[in-house]
Amino acid sequence: PEVLLEDLDHVGPATAQKLMESGFTTVEAIAVSSPAELATAADIGESTAAKIIMAARQSADIGGFETGDMVMERRKLVGKLSTGCIEFNEMMGGGIDTQAITELYGEFGSGKTQVAHQLAVNVQLPPEQGGLDGSVIIIDTENTFRPERIKQMVDGLSEKYGVEYDHEEFLKNIRVARAFNSNHQILLVDSALELANELKNSEKPVRLLIVDSLTAHFRAEYIGRGTLADRQQKLNKHLHGLQRFGDLNNASVIVTNQVMSKPDAFFGDPTKPIGGHIVGHTATFRLYLRKSKGDKRIVRLVDSPNLPDGEAIISVTTPGLRD
Ligand code: ADP
Ligand code: MG
Repeated sequence: PEVLLEDLDHVGPATAQKLMESGFTTVEAIAVSSPAELATAADIGESTAAKIIMAARQSADIGGFETGDMVMERRKLVGKLSTGCIEFNEMMGGGIDTQAITELYGEFGSGKTQVAHQLAVNVQLPPEQGGLDGSVIIIDTENTFRPERIKQMVDGLSEKYGVEYDHEEFLKNIRVARAFNSNHQILLVDSALELANELKNSEKPVRLLIVDSLTAHFRAEYIGRGTLADRQQKLNKHLHGLQRFGDLNNASVIVTNQVMSKPDAFFGDPTKPIGGHIVGHTATFRLYLRKSKGDKRIVRLVDSPNLPDGEAIISVTTPGLRD
């Protein structure tokens, strides 16, 4: 049953009205806001705002403990987003999980951004075709999002399924924001939450969040050992924000992480992604991509809470990912 804003303690009709007008249309949106933000939006004191947020969190079961049966209920909703590749899907137990962070790591050119583009297309398909009937938010830190590439992949789908898909429609359901530095990148997750709340009851709720690249800004900004702990801490907090996004929206979260092609004094083993174990312990699934012959790429599932490690071969072609 949906909880109305006015049902929350400390929220009267006037406050509810102001909150709605400022875009806080759901209890979840309030639960994840800050007191300062809410105080400004509803023209109330920060201490009242804090109480309202607490009430919203209790009502929405956010930020507190969940009992095992509640986790079970939530887990029942886990969706599978198809990669469009049979082997790859099978390795992932059917597809990319929702309510989880999946990390794509590999060298430059290994296909991380290509996989991300393909998932941004596939998520919009109906479940019969492996999609989640959803839209996607992309946080683009390296300016590598290409609408032209989306068009090619949509045309590829039309060919594959013998249906005339309209690439304009697909492009409309992709919302892209450039992140200019790591702080901005973290803030964009809050904006993504707001946007997802706005779209929650729309035809295409947000079911996929992509951060491409997760680590580039962090690597550029935190060079040297002195600030390494600082960087890891910030990255860790960022990842928890992403996980929360996935849980609240029953969405898949894809992050990319480039590994060095040459051994590096700071980061050691070239096959170890930067962000090291901090990304490793927070990302639910880790996929290591590497180049093979021609357009072939090897995707290795490195560790997963419930699936065996494995490898799948995919092709990155002009109409999209193929077996
Ligand atoms: P990264 O892991 O650095 O994100 P990308 O996902 O950008 O790597 O992969 C780039 C590679 O994808 C290119 O080297 C090329 O092999 C392939 N690729 C990119 N665009 C196309 C296209 N339009 N048609 C076929 N292959 C493409
Ligand atoms: Mg890339």
